[in-house]
Amino acid sequence: MPVRDLTHFIAGKPSASTSGRYSDVFNPNTGEVQARVPLASSAEVDAAVADAVQAQRSWATWNPQRRARILTKFLHLVEQERESLAQLLSAEHGKTVADAHGDIQRGLEVVEFACGIPHLLKGEYTVGAGEGIDVYSMRQPLGVVAGITPFNFPAMIPLWKAAPAIACGNAFILKPSERDPSVPLRLAELFLEAGLPPGIFNVVNGDKEAVDALLHHPDISAVGFVGSTPIAQYIYSTATANGKRAQCFGGAKNHAIVMPDADLDQVADALVGAGYGSAGERCMAISVAVPVGEATADALVAKLTERVRNLTVGTSDDEDADFGPLVCSDALDRVNSYIDIAIADGADVVVDGRAFTLPGHEKGFFTGPTLLDNVPTTSRAYIEEIFGPVLTVVRADTYDEALRLPSEHEYGNGVAIFTRDGDTARDFTTRVNVGMVGVNVPIPVPVAYHTFGGWKASNFGDLNQHGPDSIRFYTKTKTVTQRWPSGIKENEGHFIIPTMK
Ligand code: NAD
Repeated sequence: MPVRDLTHFIAGKPSASTSGRYSDVFNPNTGEVQARVPLASSAEVDAAVADAVQAQRSWATWNPQRRARILTKFLHLVEQERESLAQLLSAEHGKTVADAHGDIQRGLEVVEFACGIPHLLKGEYTVGAGEGIDVYSMRQPLGVVAGITPFNFPAMIPLWKAAPAIACGNAFILKPSERDPSVPLRLAELFLEAGLPPGIFNVVNGDKEAVDALLHHPDISAVGFVGSTPIAQYIYSTATANGKRAQCFGGAKNHAIVMPDADLDQVADALVGAGYGSAGERCMAISVAVPVGEATADALVAKLTERVRNLTVGTSDDEDADFGPLVCSDALDRVNSYIDIAIADGADVVVDGRAFTLPGHEKGFFTGPTLLDNVPTTSRAYIEEIFGPVLTVVRADTYDEALRLPSEHEYGNGVAIFTRDGDTARDFTTRVNVGMVGVNVPIPVPVAYHTFGGWKASNFGDLNQHGPDSIRFYTKTKTVTQRWPSGIKENEGHFIIPTMK
C-alpha cells in the first residue's frame, strides 16, 4: 500500500504543509507506516488563526437556529458514511470497527446536544429588578478557540469540543493526535458539506510546536485539552498564564469496588468489558478491581480468570476480536514494562499477555490480556496509569478500605461500585473523592446533556466537557442593567452606588 500524505484543513480546504516536518501514522495491525501527517510550523498556525478570526465575525452573527441547522445536516452526513468512518478510525487506532462505531456515536450525541443551542443560549432576565429597571444577561462567543485532543477517541473527543464551541458562535481550531488524524480531517470536509462556512472548523496537524503556537497566540481565547496528565498540566498552566480560558482533562486510574453482595457473574462480565475493551486505551477503562473480603476476592478472581483466558485478540477489522492492537510500539513497551514492574513488586500474575503474538501479524502492536492479583498499592503499576489491557486486583478487607483507595488515589476520573445494597451505594456516591461514579455501571460516562469531567489529577480547570458546562466554557456572559421609563425624564444625578433596595 502506498503511504498517503495527509494535509491540514484550513479556511475550508485541504492545505498542504509548508513546514517540511512529518510524523508517521502506523497501521497498528501490521506495524507498517500507512500515512504521513504534516507537523505545522507556528507560521502555519498563525495563518489558520488569522483566517478563523475573519470567519468567526460573520459566523457569530448567524442566529442560533441557523447554526443548529448546520449541525443537524452534519449529523445526517456522518450517519450516511458512518461505516467507512468507523473503518478509517479503526485502521489508524487499532480499536475494533464495532468499537469505532461507539466512538463516533458518542461524539454525535454531543452534536445532537449542541443542536439545542437556541434554547441553551437563552440568557437570564429579571423584570423590575428596581423601579423601571430590568436586568438581563446574554451569552456571547469567545472568538477563536482551540482543541487539542488525544489518540484514543479520534472522533468523539474532537466532536465533544467542536460541536458546543461552534454552536455558540466560535471558530474552532482542532489539533488532533498525530497518531490518528484521518477521521478529524474527514469530519472537517463533512462540516463544510453541511454548510459550515470556511474557517469555522479547522484542523491543524502537529506536535508541540503547533500546540505552543496556539497556547501563545493572542487571538486564541480558550483551549480545551484531553490527554495525559503531565501534558494537561503543562497546557493548563501555559494557556492560563497567557490569559486564556482552559479546561484540560488528564489521565485516570479507575477503580471498581466489588461488595460481597454483588452478583459476581455480572461483575466479572462488566469488568472484562470495561478493562479490556479498546485494549484498555480508554480514560474510563476500569484498571483496578477492588473486591471486599477474601471470599469475594477469590470468587471474583476465579470468574475473571476464566473470562480473561477466553478473550479473543485480533486485528481491528476482525469481527470476532474482543480487542485489537495497541496504538503504537511505544504503548506496547509501556504496557509490558508496567507488568514487569508489578511482578517485581510482588503481584501475582494470573494471566500474562506479554508473550502474545498474532500469527501473520508479528510486527503488529499486539499484547494479550493480563490479569494481576494482589498488586501492592505502593507499586508504580498501581500508582501510575498503564493504559493497556491490564486489570489489576487490589484486595480490600473492608468497605472503608475500599472507599479510601480511589478517594486517596492521585487520579479521580471515574469509579464504580457493584452492590445490591442501596445504602452502601448511596454512602459511596456521596463520599468517594472522584468525579464520575457508576453504581453497577462499569463505565459511567455521562450522557451528552450532563457534563463529563474527573477530579484531582484527571482534570485542570473548573468547567466540564459537554452538557451545560460546555456552553458556559465556550461563551462569556454579558449582563445588561437597563432603565427605561423614569431615569431619563427625571434628569437627576446620583452620587451613591446604585442598589436595588
Ligand atoms: P498525550 O498527552 O500524549 O497527547 C494528547 C495531545 O497532546 C495530542 O494532541 C498530542 O499531540 C499533544 N501533545 C503531546 N505531547 C505534547 C507536548 N509535549 N506539548 C504539547 N502538546 C503535546 O495523550 P495520548 O497518548 O494521545 O492520550 C492518552 C491519554 O489521554 C491517557 O492518559 C488518557 O487517560 C487520557 N485521556 C483522558 C480523557 C479524559 O477525559 N480525562 C479522555 C481520553 C483520554
